[in-house]
Amino acid sequence: MKLLEYEAKELLKTTGAAVPESQIFTIGNDLTKLPLPVVLKVQIPIGGRGKAGGIKVAKTLDELSQITTELLNNPIKGYQATTLLAEEVISIKKELYLSLLIDRSLQSIVLLAHKDGGIDIEAATEQDSNSLLRIPLDSSPDSAVISQLLTLYSLDESMREPLEQIVDSLWRAFTKNDALLLEINPLVVDENDRLLCADAKMELDDSAAFRHDNWQFETPMTSSQFVTLNDNGNVACMANGAGLAMATVDAIAAAGAIPANFLDIGGGTNTEGMVKAFDRITAMKSVQAIIINVFAGITRCDEVAEAIVIAKDRFAHLPPLFIRLAGTNEKQGKDILRSRDIATLDTLSDCVNSAIQEVSHA
Ligand code: GDP
Ligand code: MN
Repeated sequence: MKLLEYEAKELLKTTGAAVPESQIFTIGNDLTKLPLPVVLKVQIPIGGRGKAGGIKVAKTLDELSQITTELLNNPIKGYQATTLLAEEVISIKKELYLSLLIDRSLQSIVLLAHKDGGIDIEAATEQDSNSLLRIPLDSSPDSAVISQLLTLYSLDESMREPLEQIVDSLWRAFTKNDALLLEINPLVVDENDRLLCADAKMELDDSAAFRHDNWQFETPMTSSQFVTLNDNGNVACMANGAGLAMATVDAIAAAGAIPANFLDIGGGTNTEGMVKAFDRITAMKSVQAIIINVFAGITRCDEVAEAIVIAKDRFAHLPPLFIRLAGTNEKQGKDILRSRDIATLDTLSDCVNSAIQEVSHA
């Protein structure tokens, strides 16, 4: 799961890493409360926003409202931001690169540093190895590592303590949150010699979601994916994750029915996306059964259940549902369905078998 910049920065704050003063806002929020001048940054799950026009400085209230309208109504690199991050303007003296990542071949966390920030690190790796450090780590970077970083970054010995502090905070944010990647590009030194994470990119390990109750992130970008497979299909399906969705389609076909669609409902909060999918499925007149196969990680069973309840109320001619619900908030989800007399089944094959019976009787 890729976090938006502001979400990553929230996590960084919890371990004490220095980030610029900021607040988030969206359409309809009161702009007059923002301090000026201010840097406005679109919150989209992709880098290179600066070059693409997604980062702008507003000096007056007029500029602020004009830039806000522009950024909230025009997609950048194909993504329409619904949230902007308003940050204090930093007077940047130096831009540096620092990241922590899981190196699968080394089976280790690796610290990657480059003397220049704001660069494309993949391109830099090839060029000059003197500008780049790559250090496998099994614990928070020690003073020898900090010395190497000071040299690489050409920083004065007086910066040792703040550097040590920020690197240790990043290490703790990375390990505590089961991250796969934490990239600070750029890490900046400002005019007052403050060391700050000016940008933050963070990717968390989805399979660790079960041990993080606080993982409630904005996930507008993991939008659902609906593909019509056969206009004459008799069994429709919904699943979370492309792999599970494909397995569900295969199981329907293997049992002798005709899969009508492929649908990955995506991770995270997606009640609205699911209701839209029900709308599309009910428009397919040949569909006589719908299989819902959810193994929730980031997705939550109670939210899936709520979408099902809304669909039941909204669509008068909803075909029979065959539901398998497991994972995060399973009990809450099943309670919601039970309170509305909506049954669930234990396994995907139970769902497929029941759907086949329904279809053959129709
Ligand atoms: P990205 O383009 O998506 O990686 O977004 P960044 O947050 O890294 O911003 C891109 C570039 O904009 C940075 O490398 C900086 O040079 C510049 N930038 C971002 N925030 C500020 C700021 O507060 N002050 C100044 N002067 N430059 C900024
Ligand atoms: Mn950046």
